[in-house]
Amino acid sequence: QVAEDILSINNIEVIYDHVVLVLKGVSLTVPRGGIVALLGANGAGKTTTLKAISNLLQAERGEVTKGNIEFQGKQVQALSPNELVRRGCIQVMEGRRCFGHLSIEDNLMTGAYTRTDGNAEIKRDLEMVYDYFPRLRERRGSQAGYTSGGEQQMCAVGRALMSRPDMILLDEPSMGLAPQLQEEIFEIVKKLNKNEGVSFLLAEQNTNVALKYATYGYIMEAGRIVLDGDAESLRENEDVKEFYLGVG
Ligand code: ATP
Repeated sequence: QVAEDILSINNIEVIYDHVVLVLKGVSLTVPRGGIVALLGANGAGKTTTLKAISNLLQAERGEVTKGNIEFQGKQVQALSPNELVRRGCIQVMEGRRCFGHLSIEDNLMTGAYTRTDGNAEIKRDLEMVYDYFPRLRERRGSQAGYTSGGEQQMCAVGRALMSRPDMILLDEPSMGLAPQLQEEIFEIVKKLNKNEGVSFLLAEQNTNVALKYATYGYIMEAGRIVLDGDAESLRENEDVKEFYLGVG
């Protein structure tokens, strides 16, 4: 039996400012319940791919000019980012965008903005987030801008969880974090995947740690997917070892 894909993008091209062709026909799929890594160097097009999916390109004068994006079996290209969140797909932006002047708890509560269910449910989910991120519970009253990089990354993921997503697009979760904290974040990703059934597409430059946790990976270079396979086979691939894992 073939697992259903929660996300499927087919042959998309993205242009910035009507001229620069940045994605040159990117196709990938995420099976429901999968953790898929989108790998590649700085500038390869990972962030642009995620923004194309969540419809966040427009603010940067970017647009999808070709191809097709389906989430939960439905075409989602024309939707607003908010509508996509309502349908269960949310992006956590690179650089842990927390509201620095708000407390951790208020940041988390902003994540519930698309919800129409009651306060009791939202409160219950807040407790769920705190159970996954005990550090956030400890620091719930602290102004986010004064917490550590790791805590802000946790806060950004926690805020996304408050929208009750079926899928999270996670951009560079390891960026700027010490190795131990990177592992901590990825362990939580794995738990959320296992316990809550959240599917993940994560963009990462850190191939090592990403392939430890992902089930499948795609490698991007200059706006194209150049290689893909299950995590195990990518870890064993000689080119991947040489160019991305730092062992020759
Ligand atoms: P990073 O690790 O920096 O996120 P990336 O693989 O995610 O790298 P993108 O940020 O998607 O790469 O960038 C892909 C290409 O698109 C780069 O050449 C970049 O210079 C270009 N680019 C990104 N944003 C814009 C923009 N707003 N306008 C024009 N070009 C852009």
